[in-house]
Amino acid sequence: MAVKGMYFLDGGVLTLDKSLVTYKQGFGESLDIPVVPVLIDTDDGYVLFDTGVDPEGLINPDETWGEKQAAFRHFTEENDIRNQLQKVGVSPKDVKYVVNSHFHWDHTGGNRFFDQSTILIQKSEYRFAYYPDWFVENIYLKHQFDYPLNYKLIEGDYEVVEGVYITTSPGHSPGHQSLVVHLPNQCAVLVGDAVYAKENLEKNIPPGNPWSLPRAIESINKLQNIAIRENGHLYITHDPYFWEDYKRAPYFYK
Ligand SMILES: [Zn+2]
Repeated sequence: MAVKGMYFLDGGVLTLDKSLVTYKQGFGESLDIPVVPVLIDTDDGYVLFDTGVDPEGLINPDETWGEKQAAFRHFTEENDIRNQLQKVGVSPKDVKYVVNSHFHWDHTGGNRFFDQSTILIQKSEYRFAYYPDWFVENIYLKHQFDYPLNYKLIEGDYEVVEGVYITTSPGHSPGHQSLVVHLPNQCAVLVGDAVYAKENLEKNIPPGNPWSLPRAIESINKLQNIAIRENGHLYITHDPYFWEDYKRAPYFYK
């Protein structure tokens, strides 16, 4: 029982104001950030970390993406989560567990395709997503997650399968969670949106748009500590330079 490896899936590119990434810095500067769901292959089945943006927007952009259309730099059929999985011979029904880092719109767009999977989400995030605080309300698109899916609401850290565990990292959103993956040759800490860019760590600048800044900072410390303790590497998938540093599926990280 072990983890075999993982794939970084190409979920397209969004563009946003840099100040959303770096706290009170970079207003008016735009930044392109990739969307990267991660597929983990284990002896106990496939685990998918986040489902990307909603591909239905390619057909009905107004109803699906609404004002979010302005955020798209690059998204084609190829970036549809189902097509990304297909690249490595996997279909949504093969995915045993989906872990949503949180319920923001760029992480839940493909949730409805996983009606055979168990979807793991913190109870605090699930509750909040239905009635978000007004200042973050537009980041939650209810039509993306409000389906009769097999949501399993968890509270706190949680072992998904042997070698893959969820660790809570609130701040970006109330119930944000990250994923620690013990690969054969390394420990990968998939931070989700707890860290937006390498710059947050390298220059010690907090992320720009947290729901709670103090909690976001605590979570960054927590994840860095996990990396130190477990000799792990932090994968910052929204980092603008992510694809310069890492390879897309079908490359298999072990
Ligand atoms: Zn995000």
